[in-house]
Amino acid sequence: MLYNEVIPEELASTRIEAFIYIHNMAKQFTEELISGLKKHLSDKEEQDDSCQKLPLELLGGEPNACYDPVERIKNGFIRFKTCKFDKYPEYFQELAEGQHPKFLVFACSDSRVSPSHVLDFQPGEAFMVRNIANLVPHFDQLVLYAAQLRYSGVGATIEYAVSNLKVENILVIGHSRCGGIERLMSFPEDGSAPYDFIDEWMKIALPAKLKVKAEHNCLSPEEQNALCEKEAVNLSLVNLLTYPYVQKAVADKTLALRGGYYDFVKGKFELWQLNPEVTPVIII
Ligand SMILES: [Zn+2]
Repeated sequence: MLYNEVIPEELASTRIEAFIYIHNMAKQFTEELISGLKKHLSDKEEQDDSCQKLPLELLGGEPNACYDPVERIKNGFIRFKTCKFDKYPEYFQELAEGQHPKFLVFACSDSRVSPSHVLDFQPGEAFMVRNIANLVPHFDQLVLYAAQLRYSGVGATIEYAVSNLKVENILVIGHSRCGGIERLMSFPEDGSAPYDFIDEWMKIALPAKLKVKAEHNCLSPEEQNALCEKEAVNLSLVNLLTYPYVQKAVADKTLALRGGYYDFVKGKFELWQLNPEVTPVIII
């Protein structure tokens, strides 16, 4: 606006000085604002960066450094506390009052397939079972051996998740190069000595093995294993339907049974649903 005004000659000098003063003030204010914003962004980047960099340090720092398990645990908790617990106090305060997970997840014990990382499940989102080859036994396999109550840990988790927590989804996640499935597919033909528990446990997935062997016997062992990894997921989904509370919730349409497959070689995740028919696969 100052540029458009006609300035009387006697006032010109004063007006121009005022203009220069205002201009300088505005410039200083703008510079301070930009500097403040830069500092804010830089602080935020530093904070985010420390959250990103820490995992490498947690894995032992320097490649030849001595791995200290106690330090690993301490650093892991500090990272969680700093980057999540302290950062979102309201979220964790709410969680402290009670959990309302939407998912019950079955995943393999394999250290490479944690659903909290692969699917980014946050605290409170997923009730979790992890066992060799992410298997769900048939309901009868729990109760037929009443003297020993086999697999009751799995049964208790399903019962609590469905009856008490009223989860809306059960997701069974298989994965590539599963050691449990490889053992199932090769034993006892490979002549190796039996394990105390693993072979008995893997018998849960025997129908999946027999199906793959019968239908795809001409494929390579690796290809058969990969097929069995997915067949075992479908078998577990069908087995879930043998639990009375699961059956009722599925019939009431308050519970969905979903299959997943994480391929850590290709970095892909497949997802499907038992409807009770199997739905088309979505590849992510
Ligand atoms: Zn596995």
